[in-house]
Amino acid sequence: MNALQSLPTSAAIVNGLSVDVEDWFQVGAFEDVIERDQWGALDDRVERNVNAILDLFDEAGASATFFTLGWVAERHGGLLREIAARGHEVASHGWDHERVFRMDRASFGADIERTRKTIEDCCGVRVIGYRAPSFSIDQRTPWAFQELAAQGYLYSSSVAPVAHDHYGWAEAPRFAFNPLPWHDLVELPVTTAEFRGRRLAAGGGGFFRVLPYAFSRWAIRQVNRSEGRPAIFYFHPWEIDPGQPRVAGAPIRSRLRHYTNLERMAGKLRQLIDEFAWGRIDVIAHREAARLAAEKAARPEARRA
Ligand SMILES: [Zn+2]
Repeated sequence: MNALQSLPTSAAIVNGLSVDVEDWFQVGAFEDVIERDQWGALDDRVERNVNAILDLFDEAGASATFFTLGWVAERHGGLLREIAARGHEVASHGWDHERVFRMDRASFGADIERTRKTIEDCCGVRVIGYRAPSFSIDQRTPWAFQELAAQGYLYSSSVAPVAHDHYGWAEAPRFAFNPLPWHDLVELPVTTAEFRGRRLAAGGGGFFRVLPYAFSRWAIRQVNRSEGRPAIFYFHPWEIDPGQPRVAGAPIRSRLRHYTNLERMAGKLRQLIDEFAWGRIDVIAHREAARLAAEKAARPEARRA
C-alpha cells in the first residue's frame, strides 16, 4: 500500500471498478414478479457472463472488485476462485439481494456473516468489503455501519448520495467518509456528478447503459480533474447478456431500464476501461482511509493557525 500511496499526484487518478455479481432474475426490478424460491429453477447465466467480463478485464489490463451474492457463491465456488486467481477482489453483496432497509440489525448481521463465511470458505480470501443490494444503506439504517464494523469489514460501498425512485440517500456525502466517528470503517459512495447545483447519478448501472457514453466520460472527468477524486463505478453481469430470458409481467419502466442497450454494453465498457485508470475497490478504500486519517490529524492544527 505504501508504494501505491506515494504515487506522484500528477499520475492519473485510479478509479474503482466493480461488478455486482447477481443473475438476471435477482435484480430489484423483478422482485415482485420472480419469487426467491423460483431462482434455483431458472436459466443460470451468471458463470458465462462473469467469464466474459474476466476476459474483457484481462484484455484491458484492469482489476476490479466483484461484490458477490452469497446465493451465487454457494453454487459457483469455482467461479469465485477463478475471479480471485485472476487478481480481482471478491467481496460481499449480501446473501439474496434483500435490501438493508427491509431488515433489522439482527437479520442484517446474520445475512452479512453467512455471506462472508461462504465466500471465504470457497476461495480462501478474507472478505473486507460490502455493497448493499440496490444501495440500500441510508438514513433508515443507522445500525448497518455499526454491524459492518463489528464484523470486521473495513469498507462499504453501499450509499447512492442522490435522489432516485428506488434508492438513494440524497443528504449523504458524495465522496469517501467515515460513517462512525469512533471507527476507521470507510464508506465509498457510488459516483455522482454535480451539474448546476444538482447531483446526477453517474456511477454506472442503468444510467451508464441507457445514456450516451459522452455523459459518463464528462462525469468521470469532472470528478477526476475538477474535484481530484476517484470515481466509483459498477455494473452487472446480466448487462452484457442480450440473450437473457425476457421477464413478462414486470412494470414497463423496469423492463425498459433492464433491457435497453444490452447489446452495446460490452463495447461501451471497453471504451470506459481504456479511457480511464481502474483498480480494485479495496485499493481505493485503503487510499481514501489514509486520506481521511490525514485530514482528521490536520484538523486541530488548522484550528490553531
Ligand atoms: Zn445488486
